[in-house]
Amino acid sequence: MRLLLEKQFGPIGRKILIFSIVCLAALVVFIVFALPAHGSSQRSVKPSMESQQESRIARVPILSYHLVRPSYPRDDWLIKEYLVTSDVFDEEMNYLSSNGYHVIPFSALEAYIDEGTPLPPKPVIISFDDGWENQFAYAFPILQKYRLTATFFIYTNAIDSTNHLTWGQVKTMSDAGMVIGSHSLSHPFLAKIADATDLWREIADSKKIIEEHIGKTVNEFAYPYGSYNQATIADVEKAGYKSARKFSIFSTSVFHSKGDMYALSAIPAPNSLPDFERALDQ
Ligand SMILES: [Zn+2]
Repeated sequence: MRLLLEKQFGPIGRKILIFSIVCLAALVVFIVFALPAHGSSQRSVKPSMESQQESRIARVPILSYHLVRPSYPRDDWLIKEYLVTSDVFDEEMNYLSSNGYHVIPFSALEAYIDEGTPLPPKPVIISFDDGWENQFAYAFPILQKYRLTATFFIYTNAIDSTNHLTWGQVKTMSDAGMVIGSHSLSHPFLAKIADATDLWREIADSKKIIEEHIGKTVNEFAYPYGSYNQATIADVEKAGYKSARKFSIFSTSVFHSKGDMYALSAIPAPNSLPDFERALDQ
């Protein structure tokens, strides 16, 4: 072959021919592998969308409040651990409003991670746990005063019982733009529930009950005591929630990504403005 080429085209002609063959081969390789085939365009787009979701990281402090009311002399250490006095809560909301923070709902974080919908500068999420009546009496009016929204995670068995919200108050807050999330039926340690039906009821039935009362879809779940495992997460996803928040009194994390949308970290809201400022800045 080599001899034949040299005979017909001479040494230079042979080099040009070999160069042309290499170029042609490279072109064929490019067409086959680099250009998306008509029918497979969806296949080539999907992995890139997933990788975009995987790579998005949001810095959003998620604040978790429990009791908001004046402090009483009889308050014990446990209450003090979970209490933000109404005066301090007012200072904290005022601080957010006057320092360029944007209070967003969980849905904005979900939209950013899933679709890349941009977040406003300095985003913060405010959440409340356990459906205490003092949240309606003290926190709700202060939120309205600063035109801020928050998510209230309620466990349905407690509603209409002593010291807890009534369904009327839940509906009033929902109608006023507050988001209502589920915190289960009975506030158990979900990771300790062995019976699959019981676990499903805590997660899925609580969602349905709240939806019937407020007439809106419930998209967020908060694990009581921050207790969850793979089975819990699987049920939360299957029930149709878009994200779930965990809780630990030691948590300081403010970063979120696709991988932890069902285990979002929250910061326990401090009962002091300087500590609150430090928590947001970390
Ligand atoms: Zn709780």
